Amino acid sequence: MKIAFFSTKSYDKEYFDSSNKEFQHSISYFEPSLNNETTTLAIGNDAVCVFVNDKLDANVIEKLKEIGVKLIALRCAGFNNVDLEAANRVGIKVVRVPAYSPHAVAEHAMALILTLNRKTHKAYNRVRDGNFSLENLTGFELNGKTVGVIGTGKIGATFAGIMQGFGCQVVAYDPFPNIELESKGVKFVKLEELFTKSDIISLHCPLTPETKHIVNEIALAKMKPTAMIVNTGRGALIDTKAIIQALKKKQIGYLALDVYEYEDKLFFKDLSETMIEDELIIRLLTFPNVLITAHQAFLTDNALNQIAETTLENISTFGRGGKLDNELGLAFVK
Ligand code: NAD
Repeated sequence: MKIAFFSTKSYDKEYFDSSNKEFQHSISYFEPSLNNETTTLAIGNDAVCVFVNDKLDANVIEKLKEIGVKLIALRCAGFNNVDLEAANRVGIKVVRVPAYSPHAVAEHAMALILTLNRKTHKAYNRVRDGNFSLENLTGFELNGKTVGVIGTGKIGATFAGIMQGFGCQVVAYDPFPNIELESKGVKFVKLEELFTKSDIISLHCPLTPETKHIVNEIALAKMKPTAMIVNTGRGALIDTKAIIQALKKKQIGYLALDVYEYEDKLFFKDLSETMIEDELIIRLLTFPNVLITAHQAFLTDNALNQIAETTLENISTFGRGGKLDNELGLAFVK
């Protein structure tokens, strides 16, 4: 099939070209993200392949339909950036990669926790600068701490296991509790109890109308003043303005983000030579107890291989009219 590939980075091309030797699709790689202005790049293609910050609203989807696109292939798990109702209405199928190494994201959440807690990012720079002082590098031990996991699907469950390996008590909240995790000692509690009791709170639920701003002013007020919040889910799970206020008031202890509510204008781009206009991220970057990575939790060799394989397999299955196991049908419309 002919595929218009949006938001291309060097690593995408490397892994998709390698995987495509088996599938033999014709892929046109485009650097711009897919939005209202760039849909015409897809002319002449059967499918578009898109990532987390491509915007597939009703307008874009209708334009894709007009130019003959039949399939939207997401090369990610989350699908909050696609208007599934509009796609269904115009008859464009949507597929995704529901699972690709949950370890990639769960281990990155752990990396953020250890870095922010033990301040290895600061120590690295200090020592390189000939500064061997330990002032302000004191951390806390994870052993015996309570970790709250919101969303215990593939990634949340993997993360819970990692934290148990560090000697933590894990409590969790999920509207559909994971029985296997319960048998391994994870205690499912109400959201309020999780907010109150946890020393670390890690977000692993999808972004939906119910979970948008699940960490808001009210939730933040319930947390321990030493609590660390970790978000590797989606940016809008946290009310950014509220968390800035909480950090200013020392209502929470630490914040680690791999995703950011307004990341679409920033992440995946080198803006080091430009003036960043987003005042909220600039404010976040001024706190010594905030650590931000730019949506890189998925970025492992295993995950990139699996993403390419599954995406191209999804497209091949569609091309031969097979059953689409990874389709985001109407059941996924919230
Ligand atoms: P999953 O579908 O396996 O699990 C999601 C879990 O969230 C499910 O158990 C579901 O019941 C639960 N959930 C749904 N609504 C909830 C609510 N209101 N409160 C609490 N829990 C709720 O998904 P997954 O593969 O574990 O991925 C989780 C999320 O991680 C994705 O939706 C995506 O947004 C994000 N993600 C981020 C990256 C990254 O690079 N940072 C990479 C992959 C996925």
